[in-house]
Amino acid sequence: MANRGYSNEAVYTRTMPSVQHIRLAYNNVYLLDSGAGSVLIDTGPDYRDAWEAMQAELVSAPEAIVATHGHYDHAGLGARWQRAGVPVAMGAADASLPSEPPLASAAELSDFEAYIEASGAPESVARDVIAGLRAWASDVRRVWSADQPYGEATRSGHWPTALRYEPFAPAHRISAREEQLAGARVIACPGHTPGNLVVVCEAEGWLFSGDQLLPGLTPTPAIQPARPRCEHEWRFRSLPAFVESLKLLARIPFSRCYPGHGEPFDNVAETIRTNLSTIEERGERVMAAIAEVGEGTVYAIAEGIYPRALQRRFWQIIPTIQGNLDLLEAEGRVVVDGGVYGVGR
Ligand SMILES: [Zn+2]
Repeated sequence: MANRGYSNEAVYTRTMPSVQHIRLAYNNVYLLDSGAGSVLIDTGPDYRDAWEAMQAELVSAPEAIVATHGHYDHAGLGARWQRAGVPVAMGAADASLPSEPPLASAAELSDFEAYIEASGAPESVARDVIAGLRAWASDVRRVWSADQPYGEATRSGHWPTALRYEPFAPAHRISAREEQLAGARVIACPGHTPGNLVVVCEAEGWLFSGDQLLPGLTPTPAIQPARPRCEHEWRFRSLPAFVESLKLLARIPFSRCYPGHGEPFDNVAETIRTNLSTIEERGERVMAAIAEVGEGTVYAIAEGIYPRALQRRFWQIIPTIQGNLDLLEAEGRVVVDGGVYGVGR
């Protein structure tokens, strides 16, 4: 048979983008072969036998890894990959997460404590929350280690054992808005974390979203520090950035989303719209609660919405309310003075 160049079947199939989906308990990793290179999206989480299971499934070794963000379930096997000679890329603003546990420094811990004290929580509540935070901070250090045996599965049941996070320094730090890496387009989408990334395969309209876009749920923002620590603003304002990133993705036509958790889905634009309107509805509830109390601290506003649950669920509720307040403040709809929020003019 005559060689007809691009229509030669072997060449043709080799240059068609392909994706291999590997499920590792609660997490997904994807091997994207764009034809111009291959990347693995996320390193996989480090629970017992996860590494071996992933190696057994992968159809080929990736040239590089893009960790969508620095959380341990998405970047936990980064050290293993780099020892195996595969570089891990991560958003520059997340690059300290694999080596410095949350609240690792005294400054970071005291920033959180100051936040709790200024939140407007009653003294007894603040004391309990701070005690819980200190216990958690000393506990979590053990996760950032490869010397420990795997602990028992946590209550969430997301992974068969507890996760570890062996410290490592990502070989490649991405600080540009966009970058081409091993044939894939990497786009900075700050919000879920400061250095959050997504990967796009434009030829196919594929979005590898990490935790930026998940099927059936709108992630809630976390209270998280800005690293390196900034004198004027110790917190990274998660939700305003998250919304900007959603709006950026809404301008790109996607045919399929491959999320960090759950099943891939096709109704990408609709899911982005649902996320944005859920966030907007939460914002309206916060506006109504402010109107109710006139003005108030984040705790007082949260109490207006969750009068019974707030004491027990401080870390579930306060970050959501704080995120919405940050967003409303950025939009000019609320003003804040000394930790007290009121309706803007
Ligand atoms: Zn996640």
